[in-house]
Amino acid sequence: MLRVAKISFWVLSILLICPFLLRSEPKPRKKKMPKRIIFLIGDGMGLAQISGVMVNYAGQNAFERFEVIGLSKTASADNYVTDSGAGATVFSIGKKAKNGAIGVDSAEKAHPSIFEIAKNNGWGTGVVATSSITHATPASFYAHVPSRKMEDEIAAFLLQQRCDIAIGGGQKFFTQRKDQRNLFTELNQIGFVTKHDSVLVQTDAPKLIYTLAANGLKTRQAGRGTLLNDAAKLAQANLTKYYTSSFLMVEGSQIDWGGHDNDFEYMKAELLDFNEVLNAVLDWAQKDKNTLVVVTADHETGGLSLLEDKQNLKSFVPHYSSKGHSGIMVPVFAFGPGSENFGGIYENTALFDKFKAIIERNGKSKQRK
Ligand code: MG
Ligand code: ZN
Repeated sequence: MLRVAKISFWVLSILLICPFLLRSEPKPRKKKMPKRIIFLIGDGMGLAQISGVMVNYAGQNAFERFEVIGLSKTASADNYVTDSGAGATVFSIGKKAKNGAIGVDSAEKAHPSIFEIAKNNGWGTGVVATSSITHATPASFYAHVPSRKMEDEIAAFLLQQRCDIAIGGGQKFFTQRKDQRNLFTELNQIGFVTKHDSVLVQTDAPKLIYTLAANGLKTRQAGRGTLLNDAAKLAQANLTKYYTSSFLMVEGSQIDWGGHDNDFEYMKAELLDFNEVLNAVLDWAQKDKNTLVVVTADHETGGLSLLEDKQNLKSFVPHYSSKGHSGIMVPVFAFGPGSENFGGIYENTALFDKFKAIIERNGKSKQRK
């Protein structure tokens, strides 16, 4: 009786275990790759800037909506403290550059930018900024020059069609140039719509250069209003309409300028403006489900710290230690498909590698119309 029970026990056990033994190795689940990437750069936006501005903010804190947080080491090729040229070049070409360089490595050699890689895979590309669209940060995504000061030369790189949509300041680098060329006319001849106005009007075009000021846009404090958010929405709407996949870079350029001025209120207004853009982009990405949103900074500006306010212990005194940049790591925030790649601590070169891998894993994509 006992023997029968023992045998039944073993037979039963084997029968129960068998299906598990026979089942093949589980296949690694293929992660969903985003069709669209929106990369937002808060120039000069370190953790002290975010902490200080968002501390008593009554509205929605966009930074708290992100799923994955990382830290990026910001040193350039020749300086522990980077400038914005080298700081954006490293995102664009994945190589550390010397301070001041645009889209070239430390030997001044050009490498394919993330926009070129995107275009080669059929993606649409765009930049939106509150500086001139030829300023260091946006320029690094479509130009290759040894110095950020070469803004006339940088503007001419737009004729190479690596950037489909550019909205921001900088008209003078297109129409009041040392070489007397009118780049707007030349861009029109190859199919771009070009516009210059102080207001942004709805413009339906797959290739669009839209300047909103002669150089940088006015500050948020001086009445820029929601221009950055509107420009980002316009760029994203056109990219979505005309391209199956797209890479858009949006810069809060003047967070840095407030830092250089050691003007906390200027920086705060610019960072809150950026926060509005982030909320709008996240709302979009949440609905779209196919968009990766990544936010970071090229570096911190001003060596800002938040010191005890003896008059108001619930607040702080902003204290700047520099008129320039600092070398502290900056946060990276990621949301949406692909965001899982952005956690951890890494060199700023890694952001390029991650974007490139996502674009290439997606395969070729087609322009819609
Ligand atoms: Mg910048
Ligand atoms: Zn700066």
